[in-house]
Amino acid sequence: AIKPSCFENTPDLWRTFLPAPDAATHKYERGHVAVFSGGATSTGAARLSALGAARSGAGAVTVLSPDEALAVNAAHLTSIMLSRCDHPLDLESFIEKRRPSSFVLGPGFGIGDKTRAFGLALFRDLTARLVLDADAITSFRDHTDNLFSAARSAPQVRLVVTPHEGEFKRLFPDLVESATPSKLERARTAAARANAIIIYKGADTVIASPDGRAAINTNGTPLLATAGSGDVLAGLAAGLMAQDMPPFEAACAAVYIHGAAARHLGCGLIAEDLPAAAGKVIGGLIGALVD
Ligand code: AMP
Ligand code: MG
Repeated sequence: AIKPSCFENTPDLWRTFLPAPDAATHKYERGHVAVFSGGATSTGAARLSALGAARSGAGAVTVLSPDEALAVNAAHLTSIMLSRCDHPLDLESFIEKRRPSSFVLGPGFGIGDKTRAFGLALFRDLTARLVLDADAITSFRDHTDNLFSAARSAPQVRLVVTPHEGEFKRLFPDLVESATPSKLERARTAAARANAIIIYKGADTVIASPDGRAAINTNGTPLLATAGSGDVLAGLAAGLMAQDMPPFEAACAAVYIHGAAARHLGCGLIAEDLPAAAGKVIGGLIGALVD
């Protein structure tokens, strides 16, 4: 087993894992991300995640939309694809036909049984990576055993969970209420329990892995405390994993790139601005590899 170790989240941790496009690849070899959309009045969050995934360099992104929201999603998507998905059976046939490499479930999706059903159905696909955020996290409050046992049954870590403070408390109330010493230790315990990479968000985001590795991010900015910024982060992480970046490195890179994008944009940034800026940050990090 790897000994617990804590790093500052600098590009040295993960730069060599960043996906660089290569001359011989076609779009389906650059990863395909699928993002679940909420209903007709709650679709924007999924599109922000989808844009984050697309700007991370993923070759294809699909928004999975309930029937009632197809028209509004169609009106707001161009390079991102759209597929109807009302039921776990629709998901099964989408997976079979389109072989997505990662999923985002939660932003704007709504809380309840349907969310849990989709979340658990995603574990039946043995290869795709999953990001659970927002309403998906809240939906598993009081049902954490189902989620964690599904995550533990996977041969490798495939799940990334991205709670802010309130969401973290819904999944791990005992860790917040007890005298667990620090945010770092809470994140580590949570990662081991969930068999997931935990991105424990906030001014001092901590990324923790079930193998004991952890990183503390230091390039955050309060400019990120704006509606939709977390949704973009979920998409960035899913997009990097879709391009075969290992989950811990992808999570660390996504958090860093998100912070750097916000700093680059400065005052007045809105979540819509973050994906394109994140793409530029990635370009700077891979530098000479792309011409
Ligand atoms: P969410 O709460 O899901 O909208 O996500 C908010 C995003 O903004 C997360 O990536 C947080 O880490 C980040 N964030 C929120 N507040 C701050 C802050 N004061 N300083 C740095 N990052 C922040
Ligand atoms: Mg959020």
